Amino acid sequence: MKKPFVTKEQLDEIIKEFPTPFHIYDEKGIRENARKLKEAFSWNKGFKEYFAVKANPNPYIISILKEEGCGVDCSSLTELILAQALGYSGEEIMFSSNATPAEEFIKAAELKGTINLDDFTHIEFLDKLTGIPETISCRYNPGGTFEIANGIMDNPGDAKYGFTKVQMIEGFKLLKEKGAKYFGIHSFLASNTISNEYYPNLAGILFNLAVELRDKTGVEIKFINLSGGIGVPYKPEEKANDIMVIGQGVRKAFEEILVPAGMGDIAIYTELGRYMLAPYGHLVSTAIHEKHIYKEYIGLDACAVDLMRPAMYGSYHHITVMGKEDAPKNHKYDVTGSLCENNDKFAIDRMLPKIDMGDLIVIHDTGAHGYAMGYNYNGKLKSAELLLKEDKTVKMIRRAERPEDYFATLDFSEYFNAIDDKI
Ligand SMILES: *Cc1c(COP(=O)(O)O)cnc(C)c1O
Repeated sequence: MKKPFVTKEQLDEIIKEFPTPFHIYDEKGIRENARKLKEAFSWNKGFKEYFAVKANPNPYIISILKEEGCGVDCSSLTELILAQALGYSGEEIMFSSNATPAEEFIKAAELKGTINLDDFTHIEFLDKLTGIPETISCRYNPGGTFEIANGIMDNPGDAKYGFTKVQMIEGFKLLKEKGAKYFGIHSFLASNTISNEYYPNLAGILFNLAVELRDKTGVEIKFINLSGGIGVPYKPEEKANDIMVIGQGVRKAFEEILVPAGMGDIAIYTELGRYMLAPYGHLVSTAIHEKHIYKEYIGLDACAVDLMRPAMYGSYHHITVMGKEDAPKNHKYDVTGSLCENNDKFAIDRMLPKIDMGDLIVIHDTGAHGYAMGYNYNGKLKSAELLLKEDKTVKMIRRAERPEDYFATLDFSEYFNAIDDKI
């Protein structure tokens, strides 16, 4: 059974000050999880997690992870600006992007972040812009299909990312010629894996590649970046990954492949997003309408603008009706938002307790790829974000959008003053 990290009593207090909808994050859970990850990889001297900023670009959340020793993985100009504002620089920044605009490479170079190239042709592109830095990384795509023991699979051959094997070899040679001294290898082969095998499998592939690249090009490989992809159990029946088992699985591959090759001082990096935060966020909403037509509908004051995953991927997000945790789940509902899009449904045919108007609805696992994926379709405004601190007090870490935010990009136009008068 999935239990919210806040109680109904806490939420009743919180909504007196902060109206729904909002995302709320659990500082205690975030810190404990980050510490466990660090412990799981403590066998590796250079281990570092570079939190994937795209999963939750809130500076208050990132600063918690910073205190826990995490760097940042950025992939756009604004993510780099945010990292800079938080005081990150140099080796604390990984820049893993693709189809990269020139200004983003320039900004990453200015911050002295580690650049992870997505394509062979980016070598010349970067060289012309900023020159090749001393430390550089390349993203590998093995092609074909990638399968793990328990049936999880993905199709790297259909993915737009990375270098082929031949390009990795030629790319490392070319980068070396252009002055690079220290090399990294990166790969991301499957997303949201519920399996303790994903990282060890990926590590095996990348460790063997590292040995081959060293032998064929003579470069010094400094780190191997396992990137993101460790999943979380969105469904109550799914079993959470065991990060300790994952860490030991990677260690076994490291000791079998890299240590005998004399490469035992390579650092392991990760770029986790979902695993760092998803379970430690809830979207809190109020049931404001019920509708009885061919199906039973509950309308919330939140919509896909606040959480897009169900509309975009059909993803399951668990729902708790606060105060009715033990009531029988004997009503079948579609739980919807207010967008003029029929895919704006947080749940379809979900068995839930009877929902009354005004009930508080907690949508689970919104800490990563939740608020961050939101948009402004239908002119809907994005919700606030709150932080439940370790001392149980609550702090607003992003205000809800207001109409003036939505119209701000018209501030040059003759219509803006007329709109401004109305808000
Ligand atoms: C999205 C992304 C991540 C994080 O992925 P999660 O599934 O959230 O762990 C890490 N690295 C890169 C390059 C990404 O694009």
